[in-house]
Amino acid sequence: MPDGAVRATNHSLGKPQEACGVVGIWGKDTSVPAASLCYLGLYALQHRGQESAGIVTFDGNKMWLGKGPGLVPEVFDQDSLNELPGFAGIGHVRLSTEADRHVINTQPLWVRSSFGSLAIAQNGSLVNGRELRQQLLERGTVLQTNTDSEVILNLIAQSGENDLPAAVAKTLELIRGAYALVILSEDMLLAAKDPWGNRPLCLGKLGEGYMVASESCAIANLGGEFLREVKPGELVALDVAGYHTYSLKPSEKQALCAFEHIYFARPDSCIGGKNAYLVRKAIGQELARETMARADVVIGAPDSGVSPALGFAEATGLPFEIGVIKNRYVGRTFLQPTQAGRQLAVRIKLNPVVDVLQGKRVAVVDDSIVRGTTSGKLIALLREAGAREVHMYVASPPYRYPCLYGIEPSSKSELVARGRTLEELRRLIEADSLHYISVEGLVRALGIPKDELCLACFTGEYPIGAN
Ligand code: SF4
Repeated sequence: MPDGAVRATNHSLGKPQEACGVVGIWGKDTSVPAASLCYLGLYALQHRGQESAGIVTFDGNKMWLGKGPGLVPEVFDQDSLNELPGFAGIGHVRLSTEADRHVINTQPLWVRSSFGSLAIAQNGSLVNGRELRQQLLERGTVLQTNTDSEVILNLIAQSGENDLPAAVAKTLELIRGAYALVILSEDMLLAAKDPWGNRPLCLGKLGEGYMVASESCAIANLGGEFLREVKPGELVALDVAGYHTYSLKPSEKQALCAFEHIYFARPDSCIGGKNAYLVRKAIGQELARETMARADVVIGAPDSGVSPALGFAEATGLPFEIGVIKNRYVGRTFLQPTQAGRQLAVRIKLNPVVDVLQGKRVAVVDDSIVRGTTSGKLIALLREAGAREVHMYVASPPYRYPCLYGIEPSSKSELVARGRTLEELRRLIEADSLHYISVEGLVRALGIPKDELCLACFTGEYPIGAN
């Protein structure tokens, strides 16, 4: 990115970044092109990845591929969707890491194999991906990308099985990590979730056909019927006969990513059987119970702090107000060559409601503090607008350990809470007070047993192991 560019991605908002979202369609009504359904599904999942988008379709004879960098509507228009005929398809939105930002890593990947044409898209990260990649290279496999998806495709192709679902099931025995996978062949669509249930994946009915998607909001947006979440360790096959579980790998332990409920999932999605918005409100309520609210008014950091702020206000009895307006029409990228221009760009994105803030003690609720820069800027903005005191309440415990399962930042040095005391953090972001929810409080609010959650970025205990 050129110097001075301001990108309205999750990264620039200083939030943890979900790496990907996936969708898969096995349709029966050939009058509704799978490409259009994948497009709409990806549109609903755009929050899970904003750097590239891709769709592969199958028309009964051959597969068609379209992908590129950018948001879903930047990559596809009606003409490009018309070039992807077919009744079945898979799609992917992605937010790359520094290491794999090359366009060649854009998914889905599409290859020809002894099983015919195969396309794959994945959300997540394998903890043994590097080791499996090395083994493939040592036996002469040629790899083009940095993706785990390519490793998985090669393991499927080299499985020695004649039947695709058996080859995929055998491959799932070899891989270890967090994943939601969709694989399109000429006969079926296969979908798999890791045995820890770390990444979300849902199954839905769409007309006479079926679909899978990272989140239930994509099924609802397409007018589909949510059937259920894919089970941890389950491999589901969708084909002309409908859908069935091909295999169910026994789970050693459940480890749903707690951040799905804290931040990643869209508020209208259900994760682990619970609506994300209501869980966020419950987290805000628990945060209020655990801390002392010293404020006249409660506001949410836009936009992800709003749901916990509503719960916080409910539990404290303090008024909830909209204290900062986020401009939704700021382009994804705009260039500002000077520091003054960049500061102006921030103000164009976020503007305080002075009449709500002036002379008040403000409790601002945010979902998380990752790098600390966003919180510092927000607090400065509130003070500039006349807030008398600014008290920061965080709806997740201190983020001190990098995620090894596909969420950025994966580097310790970027985590502002690491190696800092609460008081040091408070001074850094220049808040009058700083309060985090405890791990126990978070678990209570999630309503999911602690040993069925991944909380590694707060506790340093990695349930799926480390790479
Ligand atoms: S380490 Fe944190 S972000 Fe990563 S999967 Fe676990 S809970 Fe989610």
